[in-house]
Amino acid sequence: MTNATAAITLALSKGRIFDDSLPLLAAAGIEVLDDPEKSRKLILRTSRPDVRVVLVRASDVPTYVEHGGADLGVAGLDVLLEHGAEWAGGQGAAALSGLYMPVDLKIARCRMSVATRADFDYAAAVKQGSRIRVASKYTHIARQHFADKGVHVDLIKLYGSMELAPLTGLADAIVDLVSTGSTLKANHLVEVERIMDISARLVVNQAALKLKREPMRRLIDAFARAAG
Ligand code: ATP
Ligand code: MG
Repeated sequence: MTNATAAITLALSKGRIFDDSLPLLAAAGIEVLDDPEKSRKLILRTSRPDVRVVLVRASDVPTYVEHGGADLGVAGLDVLLEHGAEWAGGQGAAALSGLYMPVDLKIARCRMSVATRADFDYAAAVKQGSRIRVASKYTHIARQHFADKGVHVDLIKLYGSMELAPLTGLADAIVDLVSTGSTLKANHLVEVERIMDISARLVVNQAALKLKREPMRRLIDAFARAAG
């Protein structure tokens, strides 16, 4: 399943995960030789002949690492929790199959929050035990959060532009990632509840860790040291 050679494949997603991973790679003595913004390559060379980077969708990183398409990868906790819940059939967000999640890289930081229109009284709706319509890309995290609070919700799965849902009457609230809050503000939405802090994690394929123990360990340790 994993590479027979000692070569190591690291899965990253384009954008903030890639950008924020570069300084960590540099601290590990690894420079990425191809610029994903300038070429269409999906496999990038690095200054280490035995290390390569593959570019995948953010939500595909756990899948690549789990099945050995990559030996390790960087993914947001949001992605990992949704992926884990998916895999466990919605039984529990903690269940991640062939993945080790050893290092909090403390990059791509944001938070998962509940937001509503300013004129929606979220606290009152919760207190009264009303059914709240919630739109989100993160339906497993949202379901777990409201179940823990004992709040009844109807969840609506979306794939993007969640801010639009309360504005069009599709939903009363959204569960989404917030970093500066400027996107919410621009859409006249307010953050009414913080669910959890999110950051990117280094995830590792268990079989690869056994088969390529030494180079994998060195890389993981270098990432951990750089993340501080
Ligand atoms: P795709 O663009 O392929 O649909 P994505 O939107 O999840 O995937 P990015 O926008 O690059 O991909 O986000 C990658 C990760 O960055 C997220 O999973 C999350 O952990 C983190 N992140 C940090 N801040 C934010 C933010 N303000 N909005 C979205 N993601 C954020
Ligand atoms: Mg995006």
